[in-house]
Amino acid sequence: MEILKKIKDDKQAEQFLIEIGVLKLKDECPYCGSNEVYSIRRNHFKCKVCRREWSKYNDSIFKDIRIKPLIFLKIIEELSKGRLIKRIAEDLEVSYNTVLKIKKLILKRLLKKVFNIDDLKPLFSIGIKGDLSLEYNEEVNIEELSKIKNEKVARLYIFKNYYNYDLYIVFSEKPIKLFEKFSIKLDLNDIRKELKVLLKNFSEKISKGKITNANSVLFTIVQNHYIAHNGSDKLFYLFLEALK
Ligand SMILES: [Zn+2]
Repeated sequence: MEILKKIKDDKQAEQFLIEIGVLKLKDECPYCGSNEVYSIRRNHFKCKVCRREWSKYNDSIFKDIRIKPLIFLKIIEELSKGRLIKRIAEDLEVSYNTVLKIKKLILKRLLKKVFNIDDLKPLFSIGIKGDLSLEYNEEVNIEELSKIKNEKVARLYIFKNYYNYDLYIVFSEKPIKLFEKFSIKLDLNDIRKELKVLLKNFSEKISKGKITNANSVLFTIVQNHYIAHNGSDKLFYLFLEALK
C-alpha cells in the first residue's frame, strides 16, 4: 500500500485517520462544554476551565479497539489483502482477538453499506451478475433450485446462470438434502474470467476449512469480489470508508 509507506509513526497514522474521517477527536470538554482544551500526557486532553481530564479517544474508534493508530492501519491493510487473522496477529504481534474485532467491525459496517442488512440469516444467497455486482437475498427458492445442478463447497451451494445471475451462491448452516442430489463439479469454463477467479479464490479458502461461519463466508465473498473488481488497494480504502 503506497500510503502506508509514507506513514512512519503513530502520530502520522493518527493524522491520516483524522483526515479521512475515521478518527474523530472532539476538542470540546465533555464535562463543561468548553473549547479551551489542551493535550496533556499521551492520549489525554485537559480542560482549562474545569480542569478535568479525559482520554482523547473517548467516543472514537479507539475506545473499543485499544490499539495504536499505525498498527491499526497495518491490520486493515492485511485484512484487505485477504490474509488470515492468525497470520496477521503473528506477523504484527497483536492478539488474535484484536484482529478479529477489527474484522468483525468492518464486516458489520460493510454488510450495512453493501447489502443494507444488520445481521446474517442461517440461510441466504448471494447473486453475482456479469458486471460483478452482488445481491444479497434472504429468500431462497429451494424447490426450484433443487432441480438445477450445483457444486457444493462446504456449506455453500454454487449455481450457474440462475435468473439474471451469472453465479448464484446459497449459504446454509444446515445441509440442504434436496440440493445434494444434483451436486457435481461444475464446468466453469464458460463463465467470465473475473468470476472464475473470484469463485476459485473463495472456494479454496472455504474448502480448506479456514472459513466456517456465515459472517466469514460473506466477508470473503465481498472481499474477493472487490479485489477482483478493483484490486486490494481499493479494498483498503473501502474498509476505511466502512469504519467512518
Ligand atoms: Zn471543562
